[in-house]
Amino acid sequence: MEKIVSLAKRRGFVYQGSEIYGGLAGTWDYGPLGVALKKNIENLWWKRFVLDREDMYGIDAALLMNPNVWKASGHVDGFADPLVEDVKTHRRYRADHLLEEAGVDPKGMTAAQMDQTLKEKGIRSPDGNTLGDVKQFNMMFKTSIGASGDESSISYLRPETAQGMFVNFKNVMDTFHPKLPFGMAQIGKAFRNEIAPRDFIFRVRELEQMEIEYFVRPEDWRKHFDYFLNEQKDYLTKDLGLPEQYIHSVEVPAVDRAHYSKHSVDTEFDFPFGQKELLGLAYRTDFDLGAHAKASGVDLSYYDEETKERFTPHCIEPTFGVGRLFLAILSGAYAEDEKNGEVRTFLKFSSNVAPVKAAVFPLLKNKPELVAKAREVYVDLKVQIPQLMWDDNGNIGKRYRRQDEIGTPYCITIDFDTLGESGDEKKDTVTVRERDTGEQTRLPISELAKKVNGS
Ligand code: ATP
Repeated sequence: MEKIVSLAKRRGFVYQGSEIYGGLAGTWDYGPLGVALKKNIENLWWKRFVLDREDMYGIDAALLMNPNVWKASGHVDGFADPLVEDVKTHRRYRADHLLEEAGVDPKGMTAAQMDQTLKEKGIRSPDGNTLGDVKQFNMMFKTSIGASGDESSISYLRPETAQGMFVNFKNVMDTFHPKLPFGMAQIGKAFRNEIAPRDFIFRVRELEQMEIEYFVRPEDWRKHFDYFLNEQKDYLTKDLGLPEQYIHSVEVPAVDRAHYSKHSVDTEFDFPFGQKELLGLAYRTDFDLGAHAKASGVDLSYYDEETKERFTPHCIEPTFGVGRLFLAILSGAYAEDEKNGEVRTFLKFSSNVAPVKAAVFPLLKNKPELVAKAREVYVDLKVQIPQLMWDDNGNIGKRYRRQDEIGTPYCITIDFDTLGESGDEKKDTVTVRERDTGEQTRLPISELAKKVNGS
């Protein structure tokens, strides 16, 4: 894990948030290559779940919402994690994490049961001190809206993007008149005041989610649930190229389910620090639409023209954390090999997600005719492959190593043969080197785009 964190920083994927001020716990900043990888993750998701379908409506709702949203949704009362405090240092910990670290599986335990188990087993804080009682800690960030600063101005930064879709259900129904089943999709930031942010970008306080609320007839929920479980898996393996053997579906026991869910299956991934939740799928029933209809007084029911019935649709929610996908891709791709006693680090990204699809170099930097030809190849190719990099720093071996470390599938080198100076048959051909095998082939410039795009 340390190697991955250090590579992520060294190569401009992820930096510590507010680093020059010593950081801010639970926040991370994505650097130039991180943004490119993140956008690939998001664009592949948007393509599969929105663009390629006819039944999905994209939205982008405000992060700040009327506080009544969070009362009706149950988050003010129920969005909490079990907190326990070291009585001496007053440091705070997740009770379930301390149990896990002591070899006890906290799955299925209530806060009271965790409290009892911690006490029975005499589990102490990481500093060796006694622990207080386990309490439920609400994870929503409070903020105040406007200048008055009184109670009535309190709202919350959204802890999930989902509610932005439920409150726009009627708007989408009124403008597009979709028939069931149909869904709404959104990519955006969410905020959770995690008790103990940790494991690099795995558990953070400011996160990005990609969520779908898919509305169905109540009796059809199971069919759609199973369908989306499969779609989630296809997105992970076919679109992102994550290794199938690292992916596990785990049914969530009733006591661990979120307050709105009647059935949940988490997809877990073998991260370097263990098998942990990557994404989720929940059957939210009519909980949210029902609660908002009641609290707002606005009718959020659906009228089925064919059966002449009026009812509140039920909802299946596939939810994805962008940061956790990013970390799964990074850790799944991390590889080392050894040649002639030298260790090489490389990222085996699938070309779908690689932040740089190919790099173009002149063999030598101090030969103007080589540089000019290489620039020509680069400029032409960049029109067809926007995620293309120019690199003329250091010698060719160093460039290969740098590109391997950022997971670039192909390196393209323009040399004297390209110029046609040593016999014409190699004129306008270049060397293409493959990342994983190090194999080099000679290809005409005209075939480069096809090679890099894999078609
Ligand atoms: P966990 O049990 O790990 O705290 P959760 O069950 O609370 O997660 P959900 O409420 O289902 O998570 O959130 C949906 C998705 O959002 C998760 O599957 C995960 O990918 C992502 N996510 C949730 N909390 C965080 C966080 N603190 N940092 C990064 N990603 C998160």
